[in-house]
Amino acid sequence: MTKNHPPTHFLKVIFIISILLFFYFPQTALLQTTSVEYICAGTDYETPVYIIKTDYKEPTIMVVAGTHGNEKAGIKAAEYLKDNLHIERGTLIIIPKANILACEENVRYFFPEINLNRVYPGNTQGNSVEKLAYEIFSLMKTYDISLLVDLHESIEFYRKNPKNYGQTVVIDSNDDYLFELSSSLVEEMNQEIFEDDNKYQVLVDPVKGSSTYCAYHQLGIPALTFETCRKLSLSFRIEEQIKFVKIIVSKWNMLAAQR
Ligand SMILES: [Zn+2]
Repeated sequence: MTKNHPPTHFLKVIFIISILLFFYFPQTALLQTTSVEYICAGTDYETPVYIIKTDYKEPTIMVVAGTHGNEKAGIKAAEYLKDNLHIERGTLIIIPKANILACEENVRYFFPEINLNRVYPGNTQGNSVEKLAYEIFSLMKTYDISLLVDLHESIEFYRKNPKNYGQTVVIDSNDDYLFELSSSLVEEMNQEIFEDDNKYQVLVDPVKGSSTYCAYHQLGIPALTFETCRKLSLSFRIEEQIKFVKIIVSKWNMLAAQR
C-alpha cells in the first residue's frame, strides 16, 4: 500500500530547500575579511596595506600602486578594489599608496628624490626610500605571494616613444610562463579597446631594482607591471586598471562560482 503525498507537501519541501540555499550562499559569499597593517609604521612613509583574506589562503596576489605618486589611475583603482572587490578564494594584498608622500604631493618622487622602483630589494640601513622598498619586499616574502602586480602610468604611448611605457604590460624576463601570461592578459584587455592606437602590448624589459624584477629574479615570483597612458582620460585609465586586476583575480579562480 502506498501513500500519496499531496502536492502541497512537495511544494513545502522545495520552499524549505530554497530558504536554506538562500541563507547558505550569501554567507559563503561574505567569507572575506579585510584587515589593515602598516609598513614603515611611525615614519613619514607609513602607509596602509589591506589584507583581504578568505578561508582559502592560496593563491596570494599582491597589488601595488602609488610607487610613483603622480600615477593616479593605479592609486584610484587600488582604492576602489580594496573596498569593492569580493573574493571567495585566496588572499589579496593591496597597497594603494606605496610612496605615500609622493602620492599626497602628486609628484613622481618625494624627498629624497629617489625612484622607489630602482632600489628594490631595499635596505634596512639605507635612506627612507630604501627602507620602504625593503618593507614591501619583506611583505612579498612574509605572505609567500603567488603573483605581484605593480600598477603604473606613463606620460606617453610606448608605440609613439619607446622610452615611455604607456599601454603596455612589462615583464622582466621572456620566460615562457611570464610571456604567455602577459600575452593572454593583453589579449583580453584589447578585446574591448576599439581604437588600435590604444591597444596594449607586452614589453620584455628587465629593469634592475624594480619591484617586479626583484620579485621575479630574487624570489621566483611571477610579476607584472601594468602601464596605462596618461594621454587617455583619467576615468578610462582607472577603469582599465581595475579591469586588469579583476581579470587576473578571475584567472586565478578567486572569484565566486569556482566551488
Ligand atoms: Zn610609474
